[in-house]
Amino acid sequence: MHSLWDDHEAAQFRGELELRAYSSRLLGRDKTLVLHGGGNTSVKVVQKNLFGEDENVLYIKGSGWDLETIETAGFAPVQLDYLLRLAQLDALSDTQMVNQLATHMLVSSAPAPSIETILHACLPHKFVDHTHADAVLTVTNAWEGERRIREIYGDAVVIIPYVMPGFDLARLCAKEYPRQAGAGTIGMVLLNHGIFSFGDSARQSYERMIDLVRRAEDYLKRERAWDIPAPGVRLARIGMLQQAQLRRALSDAAGAPMIMATHADEQTLAFAQRADLGTLSQQGPVTPDHIIRTKRLPMLGKDVDAYTRDYKAYFDEHAPHAKEPKTMLDPAPRVVLDPGFGLAAAGRTAKDAAVVEELYRHSMQVMQRSQALGGYRALPARDLFEVEYWDLEQAKLRKGGTPPPYSGEIAVVTGAASGIGKACAEALLERGAAVVGLDINPMVETIYRRKDFLGLRCDLTDEHALKLALERAVVAYGGLDMLVLNAGIFAASRKISELATDEWRKVMAINLDANLYLLRACHPLLKLAPNGGRVVVIGSKNVPAPGPGAAAYSASKAALNQLARVAALEWGADGIHINSVHPNAVFDTGIWTDEVLSQRARHYGLTVDEYKTNNVLKTEVRSRDVAELAAEMCGPLFAKTTAAQVPVDGGNERVI
Ligand code: ZN
Repeated sequence: MHSLWDDHEAAQFRGELELRAYSSRLLGRDKTLVLHGGGNTSVKVVQKNLFGEDENVLYIKGSGWDLETIETAGFAPVQLDYLLRLAQLDALSDTQMVNQLATHMLVSSAPAPSIETILHACLPHKFVDHTHADAVLTVTNAWEGERRIREIYGDAVVIIPYVMPGFDLARLCAKEYPRQAGAGTIGMVLLNHGIFSFGDSARQSYERMIDLVRRAEDYLKRERAWDIPAPGVRLARIGMLQQAQLRRALSDAAGAPMIMATHADEQTLAFAQRADLGTLSQQGPVTPDHIIRTKRLPMLGKDVDAYTRDYKAYFDEHAPHAKEPKTMLDPAPRVVLDPGFGLAAAGRTAKDAAVVEELYRHSMQVMQRSQALGGYRALPARDLFEVEYWDLEQAKLRKGGTPPPYSGEIAVVTGAASGIGKACAEALLERGAAVVGLDINPMVETIYRRKDFLGLRCDLTDEHALKLALERAVVAYGGLDMLVLNAGIFAASRKISELATDEWRKVMAINLDANLYLLRACHPLLKLAPNGGRVVVIGSKNVPAPGPGAAAYSASKAALNQLARVAALEWGADGIHINSVHPNAVFDTGIWTDEVLSQRARHYGLTVDEYKTNNVLKTEVRSRDVAELAAEMCGPLFAKTTAAQVPVDGGNERVI
């Protein structure tokens, strides 16, 4: 841990608030100090109001901003004198506090002030920095944590026992700070929560934070609690179906589909295979800000019913401590630990699951070092449940709004690197799904850089490669809800009399056989989809209206169409819907270059525009139109429909 302060960089910033934002970003850059919205900072300034009077204002980090990227607009200006009056009250409910903070801001469009605003106001220092630094938590959460903190810091810090964040904590700090603080005090440690530093300048407050945290790190190294031994990690055993069963159980507990990412690496396996995993992982989180409900499984979901029963019992046992109403939060764990597969991190979106993973990796380190220091001591379950169910958390959830329709669901799209397949991937991503794109074109691996897209290069005619790709999809997201069979080839026009057997076989292998392999392999996964599995087949106008010179293509698409109809019959009882779209003349795809298009148009004696809109409705059909229909076929509009075949061709006289 070292200071990242750079005079040259800092010289670009004018004024106290800009420097406040700068040093906040420095804190945010170090993940062992600040993770995902954790931590907050403030500065107290005097500014003129409209009447020309001086006014004391506290600029405090607003919600929705991360320290790593915060700008001056991310700080909420609140009337400081009023905050100090509030701190004198005997009691203030969470709802009242949120209302008071919101109604005493000086900029109506500023973000909501942090729940630790009153605490910042009460500390008599210009700059205040607050983090949940891993090293400090490691010490406070160890056996005799308070004694160790005194040993490390002496009178450099004020020590506050654990109290849930909110008004009561602010009041306690307001009382304890003047009682304990001396001439050498530069910070404050909140047991089982985090650390504050303060100073007259942005730099002083920031560098005191670095100094205080470094002292905790040095202590851990001296006490031989820094390096975590990982003796004899056994290799992971991940069964695709078992992962999907576990994800289904999590989704059932949550009451909505969940994304579940599995992480079987040295760190997670070493942790999950610890002999003391039970006592370590089931105690509770390292800080109330990082509440991650954790479930430990003895062995990977071998009995889903037993898992669900087990978890319900866990919830019922703890629920009586919760404040009402508790129904807003689902009881599903977000972390599952298993000696067989390491760590599974769950969330309503792939991004949420990734946040859970990162938080828990830090937690694992803190817990293990605390344990090495003499024993990890989390907060009692009662305190945790209070934080989980407190009013402010409820309010945060209520504000969340309606999630997109396919949140928590996973789709596989074949031929996703371009054209209709890429448009389908986009349409499903927009609807909140995580998408796995398969394509023989390596471009698929790089078309999107986002947590909810996984592009895998895969030869769909290679059954083994397909299985491996599905396994990777399930490791990344936990299962499969939707399958879009899009990949296909359109060979050069050739009469049957000239059609080579090899060419015929090649078209059949891609357009037909590969889809059989995929359907067969996906069936057990689709059966486990929390909202029922859906398959969309991108067929062709050539199914109802074949064209001369396209024997292989037309026959392959017709056979695929029949395969889908049989699957609809066989899988209906498993709640799986299979519907088809029959597009025609979609020209905004890779194969239709401007040159090919004008050639074809000339061939029919048409202009390019006439050629593109050569249908009953005289309208151009784009990839996007096909993709929107395909995506909607996975939604409530088609909830009571299976084996439908819908044309998307602008109207074709031969089909009509
Ligand atoms: Zn905090």
